[in-house]
Amino acid sequence: MTIRRIAVEEAFVTPEIMKEWHVVLAGRNVEPGFAKMGETILAEIPGNKLMDDRLLDIGAKRIAHMDQIGIDMQILSLTSPGVQVFESSLATRLAAASNDALAEAVRAYPTRFAGLAAIAPQDPTEAAREIERAAQKLELNGLIVNSHTMGEYLDAEKFWPILEAAQALDMPIYLHPREPGPQWVAPYLDYGLWFAGWGFAAETGLHALRLILSGAFERYPKLRIVLGHMGEGLPFWLQRIDNRYVLEEKIHAARKLPRLPSEYFLENFVITTSGVTSMPALRLSLDVLGVDRILFAADFPYEDDAEAVRFMDGASVTEEERKKIYESNARRVFKLTA
Ligand code: MN
Repeated sequence: MTIRRIAVEEAFVTPEIMKEWHVVLAGRNVEPGFAKMGETILAEIPGNKLMDDRLLDIGAKRIAHMDQIGIDMQILSLTSPGVQVFESSLATRLAAASNDALAEAVRAYPTRFAGLAAIAPQDPTEAAREIERAAQKLELNGLIVNSHTMGEYLDAEKFWPILEAAQALDMPIYLHPREPGPQWVAPYLDYGLWFAGWGFAAETGLHALRLILSGAFERYPKLRIVLGHMGEGLPFWLQRIDNRYVLEEKIHAARKLPRLPSEYFLENFVITTSGVTSMPALRLSLDVLGVDRILFAADFPYEDDAEAVRFMDGASVTEEERKKIYESNARRVFKLTA
C-alpha cells in the first residue's frame, strides 16, 4: 500500500510578523504569557536561530528537509500567537499579507504544501471577509486560530461572524495552542508551566470546552474544529466531562444543551498527533474517537519531525489505519486536491 505522509500542523512565520512581535514585546503592558515567550522561544539569541530560519522559509530549503525526513506534504500555518497580539488594524493587515505569502508558497509547490489561513479575531467582520478571501480567492484549506485573542475566546458573541463564515465556507478551524490567557496565567508563570508541556494544552482544551458548552455547535452544527497534541488531553477526559456535565446542568452550573459534550466532540472535532509520540495516547484516542478522526502532524520546526515519522511508521496499527492517519483523513478534512 502506498502511503503519502501528510503533516497538518506545520509552522511558518513572515519576517514582518516576527518583527512586529518584538515591537509588542518591547512595549508596555505585554500579556504575561506572551512576555514569557519573548524571554525564551522568541528571544533573539543564537540558540533560536535555526528554528527561526526554518520558520521563515517556505521554499526550497523546507522542501529539501521534508524530502530528507520523508514528509510528502506539509499543511502550513502561521505560527503561534500569529497576529493575535497586535492591535486590530495591524493584525488584520498582517493576517492578509501572511495569507498572500502562504498562497504563493502553495502555488509554487502545489503537491508539497497546502495552507491554513490566519485571521485577526480582533476585528470579527474583517476576519469573516478574510475567511471568504482565503477560501475563494487564495484557495487555502482552512483556518488557524492560536487560542485566545487578548484574553477572549471564540464562544463570545462578538466572534460569531467568524464561526458563521467558517461554517458557510466549510473551512475547518485549527484551534492551535498558545499560553494561558492573561486572566488566569499567573500560576502558570512558574516552572515553565505556561509552555507546551502543560499550559498550552490547558489553554486550548479550555477554549474547545468553551465552544462546546456555550452551545456553539447548536448554532453552527457544521462547524469543524481541529485540535492538535492528541486532542489537548480531551479524549482522556470525555467520559468524566459528560458525567459531571449532567450534574452541572442539574445544579444550574452549566447551560442545558440537547446533547452531551462528548457528542459534539465526536461530531465536530478531529484531532492530530502533533508533538505526541506515545502509543498509549494514540491507542486511547483511537478507542475514543475512531481512526477516521485522527490525523498525523509533526509540528515542524518545534518538534522532531523525524521522531514523529518514526513513531507513526512503527505505531501498532493496521496498514489501513496508518494510511488514514497519515493521508486519507487529511485529504478529507482539508479537501486536498493535489
Ligand atoms: Mn504547533
